[in-house]
Amino acid sequence: MSTEPMRVRFAPSPTGYLHVGGARTALFNWLIARRTGGKFILRIEDTDRSRHVEDSTARIQDDMRWLGLQWDEGPEIGGENGPYFQSQRLEIYQQHCDRLIESGRAYYALETPEELQALREAARREKRAVVYRRPDPLPTVEQGKAARAEGRPVTVRFIMPDRDVVVRDEILGEVRLAGKEIEDFVIQKSDGWPTYHFACVVDDALMKIDCVLRGQEHLINTPKHVAMQEALGFDTPRYAHLPIIFNMDGTKMSKRSAVKEFNQRIKQARQRAGDLSDADFAGGIAQATGVPGEIVAAIAGGKRDVLDEALKQVAKHLEISLLEINVHDFRVSGYLPEALLNFISLLGWSPGEDREQLSLEETTTLFDVTRVGKTNARFDRTKLQAFNTDWCNRVTAERLAEALDDYLKQNESPLLVADAAQRAHLLKACAGFRTFKEFEGKCRSLFAEDDAIQYDPKAVKKVLVKGEGRGYTMLETTLPKLESCEPWTAASLEQLLEKICAEHDTKLGAVAQPIRVAVTGTTISPPIYDTLAVLGKNRTIARIHRCLAARV
Ligand code: GLU
Repeated sequence: MSTEPMRVRFAPSPTGYLHVGGARTALFNWLIARRTGGKFILRIEDTDRSRHVEDSTARIQDDMRWLGLQWDEGPEIGGENGPYFQSQRLEIYQQHCDRLIESGRAYYALETPEELQALREAARREKRAVVYRRPDPLPTVEQGKAARAEGRPVTVRFIMPDRDVVVRDEILGEVRLAGKEIEDFVIQKSDGWPTYHFACVVDDALMKIDCVLRGQEHLINTPKHVAMQEALGFDTPRYAHLPIIFNMDGTKMSKRSAVKEFNQRIKQARQRAGDLSDADFAGGIAQATGVPGEIVAAIAGGKRDVLDEALKQVAKHLEISLLEINVHDFRVSGYLPEALLNFISLLGWSPGEDREQLSLEETTTLFDVTRVGKTNARFDRTKLQAFNTDWCNRVTAERLAEALDDYLKQNESPLLVADAAQRAHLLKACAGFRTFKEFEGKCRSLFAEDDAIQYDPKAVKKVLVKGEGRGYTMLETTLPKLESCEPWTAASLEQLLEKICAEHDTKLGAVAQPIRVAVTGTTISPPIYDTLAVLGKNRTIARIHRCLAARV
């Protein structure tokens, strides 16, 4: 591909958070701009008002910034080719639409919604695709204007030429489509707003886009775009359509797949709740989360197919992890943007020689659209987790601390009270964790109130009660020794526990596990010396006393 500075764009529709597929499109465009010293433009395609989601633009920008994909022209920063919100460019589209009408390449279409509905129904009955037939003769410009003036629902349609349209794709090669198989499509809706196809073509030209890089799901639209460019006298940019990303099981990476997975997990949670009636199960969740009872009942019964805040709250309360779909989900689950970017850069692209661990700088140097594959990409979550572990080990301690802080804030985590030294100590002690969520799960109990520690009955039974209360006895033995341990550091605690092991001729587990259960309520925590060092002497002793007092 050319090394001339290239102008490229990412053009999301504001319909929610940034999907990982969108993030990959943004990344590849960003890479081309950076690699060639060109410009990366962010354009918000907000002409479909029925699909508009409040705050979506801000969320998308936030997600892009989190990933480090800063745009050179676009919302907030402006640029010479703005405005960058399509909703603010209606006059521009109107001018170009008028041009097409005047040159006889588009016409006012007067069919009523009922007539169009009848067309759709006939097609459905005959089990074929709906085909709009160009009226003969075409309505005149005067008829169109008069109908509009009367308030009738008038659209504008593009006259699709009756010849083959060829798309030269940088990845897929030449894609040819017979123009006559494409109906005269709408370019301006009856409310005067442009359709996606039209606005996109006008903007790509006016924003001087050299290469359009987007998902393969748009390939079907490209012949329409090429035909319009020709009619409008615009140059055709280069096109590159990226392979589609699927889950490992071949299903689409959609919100729906996350909901499906959630429904399975809530079923298991329901089973674990045992004898509880459905109403009590849902009622308990409603009370704890504040989500209205009827919504919880629908969610708990697997009858809600949307991934919204209510469902997320229920999932959080039941500690059900949701499948991540959007960039924001990965941020909330505790992935490093470095790892996510590295991982998504390999969805369809490879630098060759089995190279995988790449910094963004390396990827920028190596990226080349001609090395993007044609076949579907698979989203391998296990691999992403491994990438994340590696990246957590690879970045500097400062960077890791900064990313952790972001994660904790996103989640309003109890670990926010941990000071910088405690966080640094624990990050080092727990090195090898897959995500910050996993790390947080291990460390959470250290930052809870001492009397809020809940003892996991299984852990208590296995570690403390079993063998005629062997664990409790060991706790009683170690308590005074811990009380006189000075200084209270991981190193001196290690010496102390080793000494106790030697005295009792026993393994570390027999000494450490009872302490762990006493201070955290579970058998999962950071290494014992670090756990106690971070917890501090007073709280360790207080927690052991409390556990002994609650002896069962
Ligand atoms: N707004 C379109 C989308 O979000 C952009 C398609 C394109 O890149 O042309 O899918």
